[in-house]
Amino acid sequence: MTAKIIDGNALSAEVRGQLAERAAALKDKGITPCLAVILVGEDPASAVYVRNKVAACEKAGMRSLRDVYAPDVDPAVVFARIAELNADPSVHGILVQLPLPKHFDSEAVLEAISPEKDVDGFHAKNVGALMQGNPRFIPCTPYGVMKMLESANVPLKGAEVVIVGRSNIVGKPMAMLLLAKSCTVTICHSQSKDLAFHTRRADILVAAVGRAKMITGDMIKPGATVIDVGINRTPEGKLCGDVDFDSAKEVAGAITPVPGGVGPMTITMLLANTLEAAERCIK
Ligand code: NDP
Repeated sequence: MTAKIIDGNALSAEVRGQLAERAAALKDKGITPCLAVILVGEDPASAVYVRNKVAACEKAGMRSLRDVYAPDVDPAVVFARIAELNADPSVHGILVQLPLPKHFDSEAVLEAISPEKDVDGFHAKNVGALMQGNPRFIPCTPYGVMKMLESANVPLKGAEVVIVGRSNIVGKPMAMLLLAKSCTVTICHSQSKDLAFHTRRADILVAAVGRAKMITGDMIKPGATVIDVGINRTPEGKLCGDVDFDSAKEVAGAITPVPGGVGPMTITMLLANTLEAAERCIK
């Protein structure tokens, strides 16, 4: 069997087209959706992510602001800027690119963002709302995965889902979203015993670990849908996921590639959240 590819680039282009239309309609009413991005430090991967987010915003007809601070900036400066952006009615979404340098209390920074502008969905109030099944902003990566499952018509009700990884930004919110769709969810992590025992039971397998090609074809149930969130580099410097694509595609029913899978959808759903925040201003 060769798995159907769930193409994140194609879906992303389709969704971004729809978002651009909604952004244009909002502009006609005098509101230009605006995302403010804060970057602290010189981490090259973070700089690329921020550049891509800003470019995607502009391409979709949204405005963006970018504040870049030196790695040794006094956190008070960043807190002051967040307060300013919170109070600015022309700014609808605020995102602080993670990770922050060690002298920052990352949790305090995320809590400083107004929950109404927290388009990453990381504020405790928004995490709580998601847990209660009434999300205000869905964290972008799991939101993108849900869109991919929907576009591929993957049955969710009663499906056995195994998520590998329990981070606050991917694994945990992913579990909540799939639980809300009546999946039976298992979350695995670094202390899980016999990982393959769990993954082989999964109708839907989500890998969000950060270990190149750790999920191999023999760990996958034939016909399963495999969602690869991981972004890693091979020793040769090539991008790859947490799933060994070559062996997995022979067993899975559907699979997301890396690159061109979940990555583009994450940015797309950031745009969606920013637009939704702006649309709420006229409701
Ligand atoms: P974290 O490092 O925060 O979490 C990784 C998780 O994997 C942890 O829960 C950890 O367990 C678990 N883990 C580590 N080793 C193993 C193992 N051997 N077996 C089972 N579980 C294990 O990562 P993130 O969730 O932030 O990101 C995961 C991956 O997804 C990364 O590659 C990241 O780059 C990528 N990513 C991609 C995005 C995209 O847009 N495509 C967006 C965000 C992330 P424990 O909790 O016990 O330590």
